[in-house]
Amino acid sequence: MATKQQRLDEIKTSIVDDKVCPELANTATQLVFGDGNSAADVVFIGEAPGKNEDLEGKPFVGASGKLLTEMLESISLKRQDVYITNIVKYRPPNNRDPLPDEKLAFLPYLQAQLDVIDPDLVVTLGRHSLNCFLPDLSISQVHGQPKRYKGRVYLPLFHPAAALYNGSMRQTLMEDFGRIPAIINTIKSDKENI
Ligand code: URA
Repeated sequence: MATKQQRLDEIKTSIVDDKVCPELANTATQLVFGDGNSAADVVFIGEAPGKNEDLEGKPFVGASGKLLTEMLESISLKRQDVYITNIVKYRPPNNRDPLPDEKLAFLPYLQAQLDVIDPDLVVTLGRHSLNCFLPDLSISQVHGQPKRYKGRVYLPLFHPAAALYNGSMRQTLMEDFGRIPAIINTIKSDKENI
């Protein structure tokens, strides 16, 4: 039987074989599929790769990634303990927002990634990521509050990029982040009690 990592590699290959978003693929340097532990308890989902991610082929390696890594460390996690990916897997030109069609085109592959990893918690970073799963919720109203939907638990957080130059948002993001360990513990003990 294939390992989780092998199954993730197959999904990555199928994005190329299926020619998802060929215009984006043409302007991007490479596909940025995901990074981290294929058996992680928690998966972080951003929006789309930026310049550094496009060059390195890994999500969240630029300034927002540095903040994400710092926040992970604040709850005693390393990048290798979690899995990090984006909705859209190619860098949009000039870092424009991903288009609705682009997000829709990548959604089945993101769902497949989640099905393989099957984490306890999915942390959405920013409104694009939240609204992919829970379109009716507003991030300013629900950030930091776990939401159960179709058999998974989602924790909506602000995007680290929004917190880079905004001290109060950074504080809020740190506080919301600090809730992650307790939320995971609750989900795990709920599972044991079923
Ligand atoms: N912002 C994102 O949403 N994703 C990345 O990978 C980097 C920056």
